[in-house]
Amino acid sequence: MDSANHQLHLFFFPFIAPGHMIPMIDMAKVFAMRGCKSTLIATPHHKPSFMKSITKFKDLGFDIDVVTVMLPLKEVGLPEDSDNMNRVTSMEMRQQFRRGTTMLDQQLELLIEKLTPDCLISDMFLPWTIKVTAKCGIPRLVFHGTSAFSVAGTECVRLYEPHKKVSKITLSRMQLQDFVKEETEFTKLMDEIKESEKRSFGVVMNSFYELEPAYADHYRTFLGRRSWLIGPLSLCNKEIEDKAHRGEQASIDQLECLKWLDSRQTNSVIYICFGSMANFNAAQLHEIAIGLEASGQQFIWVVKKDPNVEEGKEEWLPDGYESRIQNKGLIIRGWAPQVLILDHKAVGGFVTHCGWNSTLEAVTAGVPMVTWPVGAEQFYNEKFVTQVLKIGFDIGVKKWVRWFGDSVKSDRVEEAVKRILVGEEAEEMRRRAKALAEMARGAVEEGGSSWSDLGALLQVLRLQRSAHDEKT
Ligand code: UDP
Repeated sequence: MDSANHQLHLFFFPFIAPGHMIPMIDMAKVFAMRGCKSTLIATPHHKPSFMKSITKFKDLGFDIDVVTVMLPLKEVGLPEDSDNMNRVTSMEMRQQFRRGTTMLDQQLELLIEKLTPDCLISDMFLPWTIKVTAKCGIPRLVFHGTSAFSVAGTECVRLYEPHKKVSKITLSRMQLQDFVKEETEFTKLMDEIKESEKRSFGVVMNSFYELEPAYADHYRTFLGRRSWLIGPLSLCNKEIEDKAHRGEQASIDQLECLKWLDSRQTNSVIYICFGSMANFNAAQLHEIAIGLEASGQQFIWVVKKDPNVEEGKEEWLPDGYESRIQNKGLIIRGWAPQVLILDHKAVGGFVTHCGWNSTLEAVTAGVPMVTWPVGAEQFYNEKFVTQVLKIGFDIGVKKWVRWFGDSVKSDRVEEAVKRILVGEEAEEMRRRAKALAEMARGAVEEGGSSWSDLGALLQVLRLQRSAHDEKT
């Protein structure tokens, strides 16, 4: 087959954490739906859940598969069941975990030699993959898993250090990541990530141009990164099953969840979930419980499951709480089918930690947000939602922490929940959110901006392939 008609084969290598694996699986599906061969790289532990997400696509005839690499957990001193960033709890374990991922280079090289992909799409947290792709002579694309606003914002802060020159910026100094303010292990990792990004062929983003044209342009022209905005990736999941099978095994039956929502009025339910990593202590969870009840609103609240505590006996749970809220609230302990919930018309607001996947999923569903960032780049996403898109307001968290949330009192929870669901301001935000949701859908349809950006990327990759074929 000549290069112009050659079926492009791409490797997708996510970092081993739910917020990274989920969009990468969606991305592999999106490329397969455009005629490419997509190969996802997973560890044996995660292969079954990857397969569950892609089986229907395979059955429909799309060329998508999963290959495995072994994470050397024992070698870095981690227990065998820690094959997921959300299972390692201390700073030290997280460093061991990252070190483990850097030891996958030879396995990756062997896979590239054997399966000869045309390109590797690598998670940003695997900067070492640039050495492997350079050696194997294939292009590497970086996936940050966040918005152009946040990538451009963090890069400008890293390069120009405004926090050292002014005492207060819109994103306050306390809300900046600690590794920007002082030199830590993470600072070195971020520098390495940026260096590998500069040496890469380009950047793919789970976003769409109409959502953030100024920041997408800024990233491309001012910061000079070749980038393609190809999202929202979650929109490739059209059926109930597809939406329910993202990430971990849901702790509630999807039909039961839908039945609960079906019996509620439009925009009458608040959904509260803080993603896969952020954790709150019992005191904070207790405040949320009290605030939700006092708001008098209906809610679905996702709380991390503590395997050591019997359900209903948790320290944070107020006495008799679940019988009191029986008709009003649903507590999901563990994993929720988030996109399924957000897409339901009964959901009128989302209290979120502002992980980018959650933020974009809310935009895509047209749901306004109460922002409650915790760590990572979540404060950037908060500013983007509240100050640029104006489809949410903040609950008032002042300080960036690595994983454990700030203490927000129940009265603020109560007030925020009422404010996002009821009244003229809520309506206005919802109108704006719905308009963005329309644009999101338009972007991924044939001829839309993300559709076209992906087409342009495939075209460039084909040219790369031709140039490579001519040389060899
Ligand atoms: N998610 C989910 N159910 C849950 C918690 C999270 O489906 O109970 C999904 C959510 O839809 C999103 C991802 O997990 O796609 C979380 O990614 P995000 O960037 O929002 O946050 P992170 O977990 O990386 O902090």
